[in-house]
Amino acid sequence: MIKVPAAREFSALEKNYLFTEVRRKTQKFLTENGGEVINLGIGDVAFPLPPVVVEAMVKATLEMGDNARFKGYPPEGGYPFLKEAIAGRYLKRGVKIDADEIFIGDGAKSDTSSFPDIFGRADVLITDPVYPVYADSSVLRGNRVTFVRGNKQNRFLPSPRGVEKKPYLIFLCSPNNPSGAAYGHDGLKEWVDFALETGSALLFDAAYSAFAGVGVPSSVFEIDGARECCAEFGSFSKSAGFTGLRCSWTVVPKELKCRKSQVSALWKRRQSVKFNGVSYVIQRAAEAALSERGITECGHAVEIYKKNAAAFTAFFKARGIWHTGGELSPYVWIECPKNLSSVEFFNGLLSGCRVVGTPGSGFGKAGEGFFRFSGFATENAAAEAVRRFERSDLFR
Ligand code: PLP
Repeated sequence: MIKVPAAREFSALEKNYLFTEVRRKTQKFLTENGGEVINLGIGDVAFPLPPVVVEAMVKATLEMGDNARFKGYPPEGGYPFLKEAIAGRYLKRGVKIDADEIFIGDGAKSDTSSFPDIFGRADVLITDPVYPVYADSSVLRGNRVTFVRGNKQNRFLPSPRGVEKKPYLIFLCSPNNPSGAAYGHDGLKEWVDFALETGSALLFDAAYSAFAGVGVPSSVFEIDGARECCAEFGSFSKSAGFTGLRCSWTVVPKELKCRKSQVSALWKRRQSVKFNGVSYVIQRAAEAALSERGITECGHAVEIYKKNAAAFTAFFKARGIWHTGGELSPYVWIECPKNLSSVEFFNGLLSGCRVVGTPGSGFGKAGEGFFRFSGFATENAAAEAVRRFERSDLFR
């Protein structure tokens, strides 16, 4: 046995990461009962990579086997061709971002959880319920966490009104995981104004921006003043099926300064210490996903996920079950029927419908009594899930 102690912060974490727990319970059910379940739990994509992405990977792989075109370590922060393609994606949406404000990463999970490393001790402000990584990584770092609660009244889009005014590291995710709710321009502006007023850094997770559609900002940089107080995280995981490939980006604008330091310089330095970049093959794949053909091919899957979420929403609406999300997001968030707790509903759904969803309580205290359904499924699986809901007593 070694005599070095484990980091003290581990004892403050939940025993199991939420999705590990859902997987464990599902596995146990299958072992005991056999057969199949429809998995609307974890937010993993259901379709293979689009052909344009596969072709780009094959081409890049062949280059890697060629004497003249082989590439070693990628440039710090990513290849210019991918940064330019991402800057082009922003420009199409009317947002001007320079390529040198973009840093390529291996996933929004790593980027969001690592970014606070560059700041000194500050309280972290997190909306609840939300993607558990923000709180867990803050706990591991030893940051104090303050939660702003979502609820039915604010339709799970909490505002900073009433929050003590001091500098925070604020995490905001819109369209939101798990509630599927998305801030409109005014709601997001309230947060940007709060960050500007308090000297906070607003860390905006736009992992689901491809689902946002018209009418809601798909980037925090659509809001005036955001360049002085925000960084943004984007991901190819959900928009282009890269959950197994791993590629993401962080936008750190030149105007974002922390006392005398440029935040982008701190992030570059931090990444150069702890990260050696994303492979050439994957960066070429990501570039292909942003090409005209890539946008069309990736868009097919996104549309199906949105249609699935809309089909769940239509069912809940017909049954008078309170819900949010499902339009600008792959997720639908419901209030558990019959006053069931999140876990009771999970168990009932698994045994009664053989459908796996995610208990809202796993996303924070404010998620208790709520439940998340993910539209990341094939159309057939989603339609079959709705048929099972229709036959079930759980929703009557
Ligand atoms: N951010 C949010 C809000 C997510 O829901 C997820 C994954 O589910 C991630 C980040 C992780 O994305 P990536 O696959 O790019 O690490």
